[in-house]
Amino acid sequence: MRVYKFGGASIADAGRMAALLPIIADVQDPLLIVISALGKTTNALEAIVNNACKGEQKIAKDLIAKLEQQHLDYAHDLLNDNYYPKAAEALKPLFQELELAARDADAESYDYSYDQVVCMGELFSSRILSFFLLQSGIDTDWVDVRSVIRTDDTYRDAVVDWNQTRGEAEAILGKKLQQHKVVVVQGFIGSTSYGKSVTLGREGSDYTAAILASMLKMESVTIWKDVNGFRNADPKLFPNTVKIDAISYAEVIEMAFYGAQIIHPKTIKPLHNSNIPLYVKCFLDPKMEGSVIKADVGDAHYPPLIVLKEKQVMVQLTTRNFSFINEDNLSNIYSIFHSLKVKINLLQNAAISFVACIDNREDKVAALRQVLGKDYKVSLRDGVSILTVRHYTQDVIDNLVAGKNILLRQEMGDTVQFILN
Ligand code: ASP
Ligand code: MG
Repeated sequence: MRVYKFGGASIADAGRMAALLPIIADVQDPLLIVISALGKTTNALEAIVNNACKGEQKIAKDLIAKLEQQHLDYAHDLLNDNYYPKAAEALKPLFQELELAARDADAESYDYSYDQVVCMGELFSSRILSFFLLQSGIDTDWVDVRSVIRTDDTYRDAVVDWNQTRGEAEAILGKKLQQHKVVVVQGFIGSTSYGKSVTLGREGSDYTAAILASMLKMESVTIWKDVNGFRNADPKLFPNTVKIDAISYAEVIEMAFYGAQIIHPKTIKPLHNSNIPLYVKCFLDPKMEGSVIKADVGDAHYPPLIVLKEKQVMVQLTTRNFSFINEDNLSNIYSIFHSLKVKINLLQNAAISFVACIDNREDKVAALRQVLGKDYKVSLRDGVSILTVRHYTQDVIDNLVAGKNILLRQEMGDTVQFILN
């Protein structure tokens, strides 16, 4: 048994979804499909929840109507007269659920409201895909993955309850995979033990694929992307990237942690723990070789691996009374970041100062400034980037930082990091 994960770009329009059929039909064993929302649906849902939270209910309602029409048009392009009405019927209660979630959304409990609204995209897309597969003669079932992936209530970044999830995965998905050729589920979403919807963080569908593969002891996971495998840098940001045929979990987890967009950073751990290989393949040309991420790749010699994380805020703290940034201060600072659920992407500390880079989320930055300001002098600088290069050579570094302002440099082994603006 294996898992195929299809992201939003691979199902951006009905033609794209139809083109996935040979890829799916080619698999002989039972197949679990994890799917993202159609194209940019998640961004559209974010706009809906943001408007609803601002009290702009009329705008939210109009946006929902537009999204519903887009999904119906998509289904209409793809499905025949027998299956289209079935899909429309299945989508109806889901759009009702979305309307209720938007109506109840409020700014006071933003993260909670966000998840109740934004979780719906994958439910819509997975319904359409499962009817398309049925129409194509493939024995398919659909499961609402919220009954399988159980989590705590950290909305927008929910923490998986592995024991409960294992139990549900075996009982629900394990069983269905014995009865059907294909089971379709949604990436990115789950639910708390009280049955409230959660999301696992943007781009979290990769993580879903890894969680379920590990729970069900799958043979492999394949992530189908619009690039032909794993490259040493993001080709959208850098020229002359090279493809890497095989790479270790350890290398990829570092790259994902520092911001590589290729894979959700939480994906690797469950795969590593269960020793399940991850294939990255191109849905535009399934015959192309792709890349594999696994435990042992022998004596690999990697090219410089380059990751650029943009839209960062550099937070600089200085003690007010010239006291050292010692264990007391560090634990105080960490506990403030931790309690506000702000992830530190890079840090460095010196005698009386501490520097951290964080994602630019306005609400979090404002809260941090306020709480840290009680104990420290805080200065913030936005619009900075973190550049990380593993296995670096001086040539490559010189090229990458040319003409940039280097605010910080740090180095460990053959990894070097810069804060640039
Ligand atoms: N649809 C979600 C997002 O766009 C999750 C995913 O695609 O992995 O972030
Ligand atoms: Mg996506």
